[in-house]
Amino acid sequence: MNISTIFTFLLPLFLGFSLSQFHIFASGPKILIVTAHPDDETAFAATIYKITHDLNGFADILLVTNGEGGYKYSTLAEDIYRKELTDEQSGRTALPTIRKKELMAGGEYIGLRDYFFMDQQDTGYTLDADSVLNSVWDTSIVIRKIKELHGKNNYDYVFTLLPVQGTHGHHKAASILALRAVESIASVVRPTIVGCSVTDSTKLIPDSFLSLPGYPETTMNSQLPISHFNRLTPFGFQQKLNYQVIVNWLIAEHKSQGAMQLAMGKGQFEQFWDYAINGKEGKEKIVKLAELLRNAPLKEYQQKK
Ligand SMILES: [Zn+2]
Repeated sequence: MNISTIFTFLLPLFLGFSLSQFHIFASGPKILIVTAHPDDETAFAATIYKITHDLNGFADILLVTNGEGGYKYSTLAEDIYRKELTDEQSGRTALPTIRKKELMAGGEYIGLRDYFFMDQQDTGYTLDADSVLNSVWDTSIVIRKIKELHGKNNYDYVFTLLPVQGTHGHHKAASILALRAVESIASVVRPTIVGCSVTDSTKLIPDSFLSLPGYPETTMNSQLPISHFNRLTPFGFQQKLNYQVIVNWLIAEHKSQGAMQLAMGKGQFEQFWDYAINGKEGKEKIVKLAELLRNAPLKEYQQKK
């Protein structure tokens, strides 16, 4: 019996679950992340770290765009990469390769297993999801790929950014495509799709969200998140460490995403929202994941070390 097998058996006992209650996580939670831009995964970085390091799970990422937008913020990265990234033409040419490498370097820290790049054009900032869904992206390729990956990997959860009105149109559009893909999977084998957002300590109860107007697939079962993971959960020697360290490492790798660097140290709670297409089971599965995140024994960080 290897370590991971022992862990798989001991974890539910430690948490007071019977194996039958624990069956959906028998080999650790399996996650597919669907995001628009390289750096969007920072919104649930601590959760992914816990899943891949302490829960014996894995996480793959499907990135919808090629990440060529936002070149105007790349000033500080120009000397690192020795390229004129803030110039539109050279920035849009160089950034897709640079940002894939940045994502994969950061992915090492949070334990991403596999990367699927859809390379749809990152046109630039907009609030309008339609602008890319209707005329720029090949949406059928993205939906087909999500379904194909689920067929191979049987994910437990699909993580998306919460498609609120004020977020980037590409974030909304990527989440809408993930929802459409999940909705088209037979309900008995469908993964639970989770909306994710980050709030700071002054906002344990975030602004409510029920759906994005014009997109009925974004409707929620509840207008508030079901649960959350606290990045400031302490561990390690004298409980001096917390998961914000890992999130900051990941952000630091996204050096060409200039403004993203200012998010270091910000955001405390990774919130989990339950889309209506999950039906009645969504809430229970999200609560169970959050319980595991909170309560799982930390393999590496016990006090005695
Ligand atoms: Zn983004």
